[in-house]
Amino acid sequence: MPELPEVEINARNLRRWLGRKSFTGVTLPPSRVLRPAASAEEVRARLEGRRVQGVDRRGKWIRLRLDSGDALYSHLGMTGKWVERPTTGAPLPHERACLTVAERAVCYTDPRLFGRLQLKGRGERLPEWEALGPDPLTDGLDAALIKARLAGKRRSIKEVLLDQSLFAGVGNVQGTEALFFARIDPRRSAASLTSAEVERLVEAVGQTIARTLEKESGPKLVYVEEAGAPNPFLVYGREGEPCPRCATRLERIVQGGRATVFCPRCQAAHRRPR
Ligand SMILES: [Zn+2]
Repeated sequence: MPELPEVEINARNLRRWLGRKSFTGVTLPPSRVLRPAASAEEVRARLEGRRVQGVDRRGKWIRLRLDSGDALYSHLGMTGKWVERPTTGAPLPHERACLTVAERAVCYTDPRLFGRLQLKGRGERLPEWEALGPDPLTDGLDAALIKARLAGKRRSIKEVLLDQSLFAGVGNVQGTEALFFARIDPRRSAASLTSAEVERLVEAVGQTIARTLEKESGPKLVYVEEAGAPNPFLVYGREGEPCPRCATRLERIVQGGRATVFCPRCQAAHRRPR
C-alpha cells in the first residue's frame, strides 16, 4: 500500500511528465475510482486542453493544479500507480485514467480500485486534504507540538502514528520502521512517551522516509506487496528473521487490525532514555 515515500515518488514522476504541459487527450473509463462516479464525461471535458500548473503532495494525496483553477486530486488507495507509456502503445492492465501530453500518455493504473480521482473547482476544497496534519517531508514535524498532542492518547503509539491528522502520510510500513529506528515498543501508550522518545520518533520518521525514497525512487516503482517485489525495509514483513541490529528473532503482533513487526530486545518496553 503506497505511503508517503511512494506517493512522493508518484508525484515527482507526475511533475516531470506533466509539469507545464497541456492535455491533448483525456481517457476516463467510468470506474469507482472516479468520484463522483457518474461524472466521467464532465471531468473529461474540464481536463481537455488544460495545462498543469503544478503538482503538490500532502500525506498520501496528490493534487494536480490546472490553469483553469480546477484541481485534480489523486489518492492511490492500495494498488494505485501513475505510469507513462507511448501514446501509440497498447493500454496497460487496469488503466483507470490516461492523460495525454504530446507523445506521452500518463496513465493511472489500479487493479484493486481502492484509489480515488476527484476534480474540484476553483475555491472548492477536498475535506480529506484539509484535514491532514503536518507532512513530515514538506512541513517537518515539531517534536514539542507532537508531544503535546500525544498527551491523553491511551492508544498504542503504533496506532496513533497512523493518524493522518498527526503524521500525514505515515502508514503501516513507515510506522513500523520508524518505531524500530527509534527503539520504541509499539505497544506503549502514545501518552507514555517521554519528550526524548518523541524527539527520537520524529527523527526516526524522517530517517525511514528518506531511506525509502532513496531505495525506491525512479520511474518504475514497485510496491512491496506486489508479487515478486523486493522488500527494502528493515523489519516490515520480516517476522521470524533476525533483528538487523541485535539478531534477536523479530516478532509480529496485530494492533488495530494491522500487523506490526518489532524487535522484542531493541524495542523493549522498559527501555528508558538516559
Ligand atoms: Zn534488535
